[in-house]
Amino acid sequence: MPVLQKKANHSKKISLVTLLTGLVSLSVVLTVTILLISFYQSKKQALIHTTLTLNHTSATKMSHTIDSLIKSMRSSLQYSASIFSNRNEMNADEVYSKLELIRRTNNYFNSVTVIDETGSVRSVSPGYIGTVGSYIKTETAKSALALQKPYISKPYVTSNTKRLIVLMSEPIFDKDGLYRGFIGGTIYLHEDNILNAILGSNPTDELGSSFYIVGSDGHLLFHRDASRIGEDISANPAVHKLIQGQSGYEQIVNLRGQTELAAYVKVPENDWGVIVVSPISVVYEQINRDIQFVLLYTLPPFLLLMLVVIGLARKVARPFVSLADLVSKAGREEVEFSEGKQHWNREAELLTRAIRYTLNDIKKQTDQLAHDARTDPLTGLTNRRTLEETMQKWMMEQIPFSLIMMDLDRFKSINDTYGHQSGDEVLKHFAKMISSSLRPEDVSSRFGGEEFVVLVSHAGLEEAYQVAERVRHTLETSTNPIGQPLTVSQGIAHYPSHAVSAEDLMHVADEAMYKAKRSGRNQTMIAEVEESM
Ligand code: GH3
Ligand code: MG
Ligand code: MG
Repeated sequence: MPVLQKKANHSKKISLVTLLTGLVSLSVVLTVTILLISFYQSKKQALIHTTLTLNHTSATKMSHTIDSLIKSMRSSLQYSASIFSNRNEMNADEVYSKLELIRRTNNYFNSVTVIDETGSVRSVSPGYIGTVGSYIKTETAKSALALQKPYISKPYVTSNTKRLIVLMSEPIFDKDGLYRGFIGGTIYLHEDNILNAILGSNPTDELGSSFYIVGSDGHLLFHRDASRIGEDISANPAVHKLIQGQSGYEQIVNLRGQTELAAYVKVPENDWGVIVVSPISVVYEQINRDIQFVLLYTLPPFLLLMLVVIGLARKVARPFVSLADLVSKAGREEVEFSEGKQHWNREAELLTRAIRYTLNDIKKQTDQLAHDARTDPLTGLTNRRTLEETMQKWMMEQIPFSLIMMDLDRFKSINDTYGHQSGDEVLKHFAKMISSSLRPEDVSSRFGGEEFVVLVSHAGLEEAYQVAERVRHTLETSTNPIGQPLTVSQGIAHYPSHAVSAEDLMHVADEAMYKAKRSGRNQTMIAEVEESM
């Protein structure tokens, strides 16, 4: 504990202003931090949820669009198949012109072809493909032929042109219900096709979200980066869910390690999937903008609060500073305790009053003690200590003076005859006598018992002798408490003629006084200069 106290005394004390400002700054910083953290957390969750929901909405819409597109494409093929049910009655040109018409009317397909039941290409539009008469080679086309049902293929590469395509086929039956091959429409995935005609070639909105379409096996059918079309992305978590038949939305990490907010919806007609994704950075950018906005509006009031607190702290601290000033001054110089301006703060005002009152009281007591320490209580003259101090002071300042040593004659017998009380009255009477015979600058003191010493400043022996004789005469002739004549014997010495130290000077004066006693009392003797030399 003492170690602690010592440390506390020596370490720099923290000021009230610093303390209050610090506390307020701390609470402001903490409040703003907590505010921002909670704002950040809730805003982040909300933004993620909103983005996912928006993505899900647009994926659902897009799925509907593609669904009706595929349905229209299917109806178009069905209608065409019905036209070709009497194909055997048409010549090659008629078939070709009908195919051209079908392809150009709605632009659903990049190419349209009629395959007969043997797998031979009967007609193809556009004609420059030039496969008429040849037999279908790819497994996909062969299985479409064998199926005898409406069919939509996965992306595959054609044997002739090595294009990545999707084939949509519709079986052709004649009037007798016999299978006569199929009509097939293709989508060239890497070229201008119905998908990018409807969905746009750069499907990215202003928020940075984009979408892509995958086939039922997880291969990309449509992507803003055309070079990726055909790529197998079935390992992508969203695509994986689609393959499992689910639709939904969630935060995922894509195959390139980027965190995305993905919504995925199946196209009911053909098991394709639409995926709409936004990079998570979209959310963080939005939060940053929002935080800057929040700071812009919250910081000025907080700064204002700080300024108010600093001002208040100064105001609160001011009374204590002035009190400390007052108390420290009180130890060093004369201070007026009673007056002082009022404080606005009640506690400070109470404390100030209490301190002023106490300081005032202490001052009175101290003054009394100082007076008592210098004064002889019986006579009110200065005491021996003060006498010695005065002599030292005068000697230091080299002020010449004379010293009169006075001793009442036969005082013991006064005590014995009239009592100690009357003896005291005589002492007081004599003290008054001395005081009234002196100038203000002279010093009279009770040296002890019935001995008194008077210092007459700047006085030579002659002048002092006159003073002493005046005292002696007044005492002898004045009426006194015992009604009997009182006498005194006195010895005089001079500084610096007789001695240069207080002790020696007293001794010389004492000798002179005893000489007066021996010579019959009631007289004044000046010490002889040679005596002390
Ligand atoms: P001398 O003429 O030789 O001085 O005779 P004296 O009786 O005055 O001398 P002495 O020194 O023998 O006696 C001094 C007396 O003063 C002794 C003491 O009883 C008395 N005395 C000392 N102090 C006080 C005091 O404060 N009050 C009273 N009443 N008497 C005191
Ligand atoms: Mg005596
Ligand atoms: Mg005496």
